[in-house]
Amino acid sequence: MTQQNALENPWVMRRLRVAIDAPLAASFDYLAPADVTGDDVGCRVVVPFGSGRRVGLILAVLPLHDQSDSSAPDSAKLKSAETILRDLPPVPQDWVDLCLFAASYYQAAPGEALLQAIPTGLRKPDPIKRRSIKAKSIEANAVVSRPALTTGQSAVLSDLLPRMQGYSANLLFGVTGSGKTEVYLRLIEAVLAAGQQVLLLVPEINLTPLLEARVVERFSSTPVVSLHSEVTEAARARYFAAALTGEARIVIGTRLAVFTPMPDLGLIIVDEEHDPAYKQLEGMRYHARDLAVWRARQRQIPIVLGSATPSPESWSNVQSGRYQRLDLPERAHADAVLPTVTLLDTRRLTLDEGMSSALLDTLAQGLAAGEQSLLFINRRGYAPVLTCTACGWVSNCRRCAAHRVVHRLDRTLRCHHCGDTSPIPKQCPDCGNADLRPLGRGTQRIEEALQKHFPQARILRVDRDVATTRKQWEALEAKIRSRDVDILVGTQMLAKGHDFPALTRVCVVGADAGLFAADWRAPERLFAQLMQVAGRAGRAAHPGHVIVQTEHPEHPLYQCLLRHDVPAFLALELTERQRAGFPPYASQAIVRAEAKQLDTVLVFLKRIRSLVSADLHPEVFIYDPVPMRMVKLAGRERAQLLIESPSRIALQNFLNDWLPQISAGRGMTRGAAPGGVRWGIEVDPLEC
Ligand code: ADP
Ligand code: ZN
Ligand code: ZN
Repeated sequence: MTQQNALENPWVMRRLRVAIDAPLAASFDYLAPADVTGDDVGCRVVVPFGSGRRVGLILAVLPLHDQSDSSAPDSAKLKSAETILRDLPPVPQDWVDLCLFAASYYQAAPGEALLQAIPTGLRKPDPIKRRSIKAKSIEANAVVSRPALTTGQSAVLSDLLPRMQGYSANLLFGVTGSGKTEVYLRLIEAVLAAGQQVLLLVPEINLTPLLEARVVERFSSTPVVSLHSEVTEAARARYFAAALTGEARIVIGTRLAVFTPMPDLGLIIVDEEHDPAYKQLEGMRYHARDLAVWRARQRQIPIVLGSATPSPESWSNVQSGRYQRLDLPERAHADAVLPTVTLLDTRRLTLDEGMSSALLDTLAQGLAAGEQSLLFINRRGYAPVLTCTACGWVSNCRRCAAHRVVHRLDRTLRCHHCGDTSPIPKQCPDCGNADLRPLGRGTQRIEEALQKHFPQARILRVDRDVATTRKQWEALEAKIRSRDVDILVGTQMLAKGHDFPALTRVCVVGADAGLFAADWRAPERLFAQLMQVAGRAGRAAHPGHVIVQTEHPEHPLYQCLLRHDVPAFLALELTERQRAGFPPYASQAIVRAEAKQLDTVLVFLKRIRSLVSADLHPEVFIYDPVPMRMVKLAGRERAQLLIESPSRIALQNFLNDWLPQISAGRGMTRGAAPGGVRWGIEVDPLEC
């Protein structure tokens, strides 16, 4: 530190370099308050900004006059910073590095990445009142019994436990019910005992309260905090503070929790690593799993990615030796075997509301045996579209290129994209015909049909219309677990990490749609969903049965499902992607833009496409601008520009060169352009 002497002299004025939540590349310099010290780096500070005041983060304390720093603004023009907030310890440097890496990789402004990683409660100009985080259970030394490990768990742990120092990336590939959670718990135990903190990421905490409950139960005397969208702003600020002070030893959270400052971090676990919910789709569009891996390497600590259906990306990282693969090939309960899967060819069958008689027989058998069944259909609502039998009118959304969905219970037509809702018309808005027909089916229609077939059965529908909050979901789950339900009708909400011991039969309808979708990641998602939903059947002593209705029983995806052969599916997927030059064999970024008129958007994209000469970036390929698959959303028309390169670094270099030119040197990575165009960039898009 060459500036150390100057900084120790109280009579020398200092400047603060401050990150501020603004969509600009720059940080901002202020005149430091008189009480500043070098230890204030990483503290929040209240500064004047524009016409108001903002809370920023101190990146550096510098001498006021620094000839060596040509970027330093003229000291005479500096405004004074107001107050340095020292209510919390400064954020650690590795946390700053993580946010700055995210900003540079995902092409966001550094100040945005840093400040938006701080809860809003801590971005107010007043210091916070701290309350201590208590362990959730009061019995300080409660002895919690741990099950004896299965052979598989022992093998995995004896591989992992000696490697808890230093960086390693591990893919824990374990079928549903194989006991991945117990492996997590043992690893957490070891890391806590070594005096370190643990970060456990989950895709959607509302759907997986079980995992959280098991962590809290096992470590009842350890302060645990959970961070997710339903936590209030005030609580988020408290939990962030508790993680930062080291008071909280375990942090469980959804994608945003990857940005929790944890000075003693010793282990990261990412459960269900393949889940698309790890991708943030607004603002800085980061992937929490990928950032978690970066964070583990930067901190030189182990990371464990768990899944029954790993992502092709992680699988290819295993193949290239970047990740180590650990398998749990068998279910933890000795008598719990994998369910039998039957593919039911519906091509020559007459269906009743989409259901074959074999499927209905299976449900009848379940009822007779007093066991639970699940009917999986990944579409909520009554029917995906309403049509007029006379003139062909369809229930299009006025604001989106999509149909509005028929919802029977409140008799509405609802757009699932923009939320636009109106009552179901009594007659055709175009021709007046009163015979309007719902086409296709969703959960509500299946529920209604099953009620007719099995009037004596207790049928429960589970989808986002009935379970929006965690409380609602927990009430439904309790009902299922106490066996107050015979037949469940549900979407993928039901597929995630639940344990329903009485569930033995799973029937799947409408899955074929995922086979030939325009989105090339659709099969990967379908396969993961089907494996997960199949994994719900027969978790305890009763063997499970899965019936999948399909018109394509020979399809390789179903053939892999039939054999529970995840590696075979992943091999197929990766071969396909290699042939097509898709990720992980190429890196992609996408610029999306929208305006009132599609033409305006296309003109804008064409213009920015030619801002950088292709000769300078021979390894980067920019496609022609094209309208997005759903061209209209909420009244705005959309188009996109895909950029691809076999080299991640070449792509990054190109973006660093190109983006400043789009924003005319203002260092913005999203923004507005003439003609009412709004644009933004996504690196490693999941949809393109
Ligand atoms: P996964 O997360 O791999 O799907 P879980 O961790 O939920 O699987 O475990 C499935 C079931 O097996 C749970 O009911 C769990 O309590 C049980 N289980 C896990 N490990 C053991 C063990 N070592 N001995 C007995 N039961 C176990
Ligand atoms: Zn009509
Ligand atoms: Zn709409």
